[in-house]
Amino acid sequence: MKRATTQELKTFFESLGTDYDLRAPVKLHDGTRVLGGLDEGPLALEGGKIPQKPTSVFFPQFDEVFMVSKDGQFHAAEPVKKPIFVVGFTAQDLDCLEFIDKFFSENYRDDIYFNKRDGAVLVGVSGKCGKDGEFLKIAGGKCDIELISDGECFIVHPHTDKGKALVESLKASECGCGGVKMETLKEESDALPKDDEETIDKASELIRAGKVPDDFWNEIATRCIACTSCNLACPTCTCFEVYDREQDGKMVRQRIWDSCQLDGFMREASGHNPAGLQMQRTHRRIHHKLAADVERWGHRTCMLCGRCDDVCPTDIGIKSVCKEIVERYS
Ligand code: SF4
Ligand code: SF4
Repeated sequence: MKRATTQELKTFFESLGTDYDLRAPVKLHDGTRVLGGLDEGPLALEGGKIPQKPTSVFFPQFDEVFMVSKDGQFHAAEPVKKPIFVVGFTAQDLDCLEFIDKFFSENYRDDIYFNKRDGAVLVGVSGKCGKDGEFLKIAGGKCDIELISDGECFIVHPHTDKGKALVESLKASECGCGGVKMETLKEESDALPKDDEETIDKASELIRAGKVPDDFWNEIATRCIACTSCNLACPTCTCFEVYDREQDGKMVRQRIWDSCQLDGFMREASGHNPAGLQMQRTHRRIHHKLAADVERWGHRTCMLCGRCDDVCPTDIGIKSVCKEIVERYS
């Protein structure tokens, strides 16, 4: 397996720019890390997960469904010009993407999503490149190429034939770090604490067993200010609403992310609202991922990426809520 420095990887990514629409973690002038083009800021592979919802590369906040031109002609959304090459998914992000691939393909195949997703190249990041040097779990698959940091440089591990073919063109020289063995990094990954998994699985069990009373949801709901940040950051949140907008004389139908934390989320045309109370909406946010989805998909659909806990201004992200559930009702 090749080892490459950040500079060598940057040169490699740049060389792919003619064939791919490249998105990689870059640092903006204000220090924020985002998935963007290499012309938007320096490549920033270190620092852990990207704060933004990484699945937005394939399911963006605003997306065109179709357009009707002035003469009444219908035009389907245009196919992407180049396949997407995205760098920076963590192991948890790859789990999230695996779920939404399933969500958007089961029963009904969502062409708008797969227009971007088909043909895409996924590059995961793991190892000693988390925030403040934190070790990021090694994914070991679910992506075409994985970049595993040993703290000095990256082991470039292709997981698919497509990844192998691409990595052949990567020019990597000896970086002088001595090269921590892959087995050593794997052992470190396997030894990462599993407390969060244990807590969320226990909370899921308690919710499904009916052990969490309405009073609890009422109490948590009083702390929600319906800012919707949790939904906007969550890589497995897939709800959207649809708007028709006039643009330059044409009518464009767009889909736009929705939030189950908003009062109007489930309100019906009659005025009836099955989730008219904040308590119902707070309950839904957690119950959906930890109980309803377990029934529907056979597993929870929170992959513990940590974004909702990072962004919630009142400390009721899913990990915090699960911790309270387990402390009170086990
Ligand atoms: S930790 Fe929060 S943001 Fe991340 S997958 Fe779970 S619910 Fe979504
Ligand atoms: S981020 Fe927190 S306060 Fe904002 S809507 Fe979500 S749970 Fe409520």
